[in-house]
Amino acid sequence: MKIFRFRNRPFQIIWIFFTLLLLKCGPPEQFADTLFLHGKIITMDSDFSIREAIAIKNDKILAVGNNKEISLLSGPNTKEINLGGKTIIPGIIEGHVHPIGASRSEYYHQIPDVHSIGEILQWIHAEAVKRDTGVWIIFPKFFATRMLEKRQPSKAELDSVAPHNPVFLDGSYGGMINSKAMQVSGISTISKHPGILKDKNSGKPTGLIRRSAFKLLSISQDKNLDEKARLNLLKEMLQLYNEVGITSICSGGGTPEDLQLFKKLFDSGDLSVRVFQNLYIPFDPHISLDEMRTSLGEFNFTTGDGDNWVKVGALKTHVDGGILTGTAYLREPWGKGAFDIYGINDPDYRGVLSLNKEELIRIITVSDEFGWKFTAHVTGGGGVDVLLSAMEEVNKISPIGNKRFSIIHGNFYTSEAIKKMVKLGVYADMQSAWFFKDADLLNLALGEQRIKTFHPYYSLMNAGVIVNGGSDHMVKLDSYTSINPYNPFLAMWSVVTRKTERGSIITPDEAISREQALKMYTINNAYASFEEDIKGSLELGKLADLVVLSEDILTCPEDNIKDIKVLLTMVGGRVVFNKNLDN
Ligand SMILES: [Zn+2]
Repeated sequence: MKIFRFRNRPFQIIWIFFTLLLLKCGPPEQFADTLFLHGKIITMDSDFSIREAIAIKNDKILAVGNNKEISLLSGPNTKEINLGGKTIIPGIIEGHVHPIGASRSEYYHQIPDVHSIGEILQWIHAEAVKRDTGVWIIFPKFFATRMLEKRQPSKAELDSVAPHNPVFLDGSYGGMINSKAMQVSGISTISKHPGILKDKNSGKPTGLIRRSAFKLLSISQDKNLDEKARLNLLKEMLQLYNEVGITSICSGGGTPEDLQLFKKLFDSGDLSVRVFQNLYIPFDPHISLDEMRTSLGEFNFTTGDGDNWVKVGALKTHVDGGILTGTAYLREPWGKGAFDIYGINDPDYRGVLSLNKEELIRIITVSDEFGWKFTAHVTGGGGVDVLLSAMEEVNKISPIGNKRFSIIHGNFYTSEAIKKMVKLGVYADMQSAWFFKDADLLNLALGEQRIKTFHPYYSLMNAGVIVNGGSDHMVKLDSYTSINPYNPFLAMWSVVTRKTERGSIITPDEAISREQALKMYTINNAYASFEEDIKGSLELGKLADLVVLSEDILTCPEDNIKDIKVLLTMVGGRVVFNKNLDN
């Protein structure tokens, strides 16, 4: 019977030597700090081994095996935890979150969990009563398509509840403003702007705006948090991540200042989650290749810089808009079904493509030259195809196969796109919250045929594409009601069942197994940050990042997966969250 898993032969020999030494004379330095015994350890190693017990020493895994073997590592100062049959999985690695923005999102005002036009209007009215005349009322990451009515509130409705306050419902790539917002921002007087949507008959602005018009809004940035407050909020946000078992994250996009913020938390001993921080390209994407070279040459980072706690991630750019604002760049026109929902009235409209193929080739080329892993936000299938064809061109000159380039979101993958991804070694950075929350709406907007290519987990994995799990958490704090919900068990339940928030089951043949779902949130995300040798599975010598669960995720009734609770989270041998597991 195999007891331990070994990475390679020399390591195996050294380990056997130490074990013999230990059994003979019991050198105290080989006693574990902590033992978890009598459990079900889902190791996520390459054989998907299940063990009974695990030993931790300092910040690493000392051994994984059966109770008898692991008990031998107990010394006078070892803490023994009897799991009583409970399940341990490797620490959850979250593939795509925005914790800095999210941590501050409810600092000044709580953001309600709204589901209908009535609820959002009620909230705006209540805020208008509380706030002085002229003070902005902003709802960040407001996706009208998630409302029961599947539409934006009209300008008239917004005016009726807040006639004297500018209102902005910010949906990242599109939004809605009221008359007061237009007036104070001078939008009422602008005759032509691609980001300001107008009524076909009257020619007047409808209140709907696209991202390019966001900069016209005269929002006063008078409230600035000092650094101490920002650090504290971030620390608390990361602790909430620990509560649902998250031990590492890929921070979806940010600046060198964001990277510093995580480093400062680490320096003060307050960082409880490991961070792989993607950075936005530090140049205008439309400049020449040489200008990009100059700009990136002055950037003091590259992918992989840092340590096990805070590491520089990929270089990131944006290819298109978003699926919830009708700005994702699709393969075909959005079509009739989308007209009412998104206020689109151009029958040829496919979405907003921010970068063309040539610009992408330049950005990817320069990223590659400077040793960066490259990634891009793209939400529509048309954007996916443009991005993949740009990657194909770069690949002809400098092979990208082992560089772990990725597509963030992607959402719509045809079999042709999947084939190209396999050929290029590009992986899919998916956030199943977009499926869980929005598949019903997109089904309605785009029709049954196109929805078949939406979040095709089984097709991607079956073809050999590595699929990563994340949430795109941006706003609010609660793991189930945030935008987007970042609860990993909710996400895993959704990819296993293909069930949505509205109770439908969409394209059930794209469901994946529980084991595959776990992979998305553990070893696959470790691969994404080039760290599969140090984390993502529970194996000898790897970082002691693990989670104790309330239920066995492999055998519990399927619908219980979403309600699984975390009882204990350990990061680097340190317990960062503990609920009811004190013995
Ligand atoms: Zn994001």
